[in-house]
Amino acid sequence: MADLYIGGEWVDARAGGRREIRCPADGSLVAEVAEATAEDTEAAIAAARRAFDTGPWPATPAAERGNLLLRTADLLDRDAEEFARAESLDTGKRLVESRYDMSDIAACLRYFGKLAGNEAGRVVDTGSADSFSRIVHEPVGVCGLITPWNYPLLQAVWKIAPALAAGNTFVLKPSELTPHTAILFMRLLAEAGLPGGVANLVLGAGPTAGAPLSKHPDVDLVSFTGGLATGRVIAANAAATVKKVALELGGKNPNVVFADADFETAVDYALTAVFLHSGQVCSAGARLIVQREWHDEFVDELVRRAERIRLGGPFDENAETGPLISAAHREKVERYVATAIEEGAVLRTGGKRPDDPALQDGFYYLPTILDNVQQGSTAVVEESFGPVLTVETFTDEDDAVRIANDTHYGLAGGVFTQDAARAQRVANRLRHGTVWINDYHPYLPQAEWGGYKQSGFGRELGPTGLAEYTEVKHIHQNLKPGPQHWFSG
Ligand code: NAD
Repeated sequence: MADLYIGGEWVDARAGGRREIRCPADGSLVAEVAEATAEDTEAAIAAARRAFDTGPWPATPAAERGNLLLRTADLLDRDAEEFARAESLDTGKRLVESRYDMSDIAACLRYFGKLAGNEAGRVVDTGSADSFSRIVHEPVGVCGLITPWNYPLLQAVWKIAPALAAGNTFVLKPSELTPHTAILFMRLLAEAGLPGGVANLVLGAGPTAGAPLSKHPDVDLVSFTGGLATGRVIAANAAATVKKVALELGGKNPNVVFADADFETAVDYALTAVFLHSGQVCSAGARLIVQREWHDEFVDELVRRAERIRLGGPFDENAETGPLISAAHREKVERYVATAIEEGAVLRTGGKRPDDPALQDGFYYLPTILDNVQQGSTAVVEESFGPVLTVETFTDEDDAVRIANDTHYGLAGGVFTQDAARAQRVANRLRHGTVWINDYHPYLPQAEWGGYKQSGFGRELGPTGLAEYTEVKHIHQNLKPGPQHWFSG
């Protein structure tokens, strides 16, 4: 089936490549999809360029662009179940979580749909009645959008919605592991009335199908969500043509628990923070930093509860979390755990694949807790992106902040305490882009999302998220034109 969407047409990969998509929960074949090469991506870039330079979309009134996003949100609500099932088959995540994702995506479309018409620009005070200056916001141009597999459509729509609201055209390359909801979403955009060539989709591997989006001179902006190593490659590629670059990268997120927190609440959130979606969440609270006097009791309780977490496939209603995305990813998590133990971590639970015969065909890994990890060790420095919690202890507030900030990442973190003043002090001192107090993981489309330090740059969501996709132009008008007589002749 033709499933690249280029210039408003569904086409096959020119070289005829195909890729099997398998469900991580049981290895079953979900479908075969087109595998694009750089040539296909170049064709998609050319289509997006034409649509931007000569098509109606960039000049469409912003409120109309917003209305298209609102219509798309309604269509997504209509088809939410089909989308959720497709997302679950590709990712292995529980259907209930995919359903949440679809409603978050609709909320994001509505947020940017409403925001689209608000980019009013402003008048600049020139201090003179003889001139008039104003600032306008314009689309950047052709956007290359590259996304990961953990929240496939959510990550894509965080980019697509502001890009379209601002009047850009784009080429999306989703993760090669999870293409289906991107295919379905292109159909919705077309049904909502988006002109051909504005939205383009290529599928396939990063270094082949994805690379032109960061290199090609006809791409004006590249927005990437994924791992730090890939982000570095993309930023370096983009430098040659000085593209606008937005990077949403990994995290090594601290969850700081003070001994004055509500014990039950802090335990419960500490589990959700790290084991939701088997840890495959960029903001996962994978580093528990707990006050020393609570350490033993707190970790014992975490271990007890982690051992009761039920694993299962997307449609198993008893399952509480699912598999890892691929065999290769599970091997990476296994290497990470082995290295941590070699470096002195104490394995308190997990650290292996489940024995349950029903789970043997999927890429499952038990919820794992590594105690006594040392600052600077691999377990603390590197992202596992799996169901692995590391435990560190602190003595007082300064110590907690120092340990929590001792990472080259800076995406997100949590603070648990019943002392309201302390909560604010610590939140203010954490060098992380989102800080949750007595909570973990809630996200709001109207609030900015993005990382400090090597977790990236540029913001998604919130009003700044829309601004990322606009250029700012200053238009100055002389209201009393006439000769200036600078030069005597
Ligand atoms: P990844 O970096 O391996 O791949 C991400 C995307 O980049 C995929 O579409 C891939 O095909 C593409 N890609 C790979 N090499 C490329 C190249 N040379 N040129 C262009 N594209 C290329 O990441 P992943 O394994 O898919 O996702 C997991 C990572 O994503 C984790 O590190 C996680 O923390 C991060 N993440 C971050 C956020 C955030 O908001 N900061 C959100 C979700 C995931």
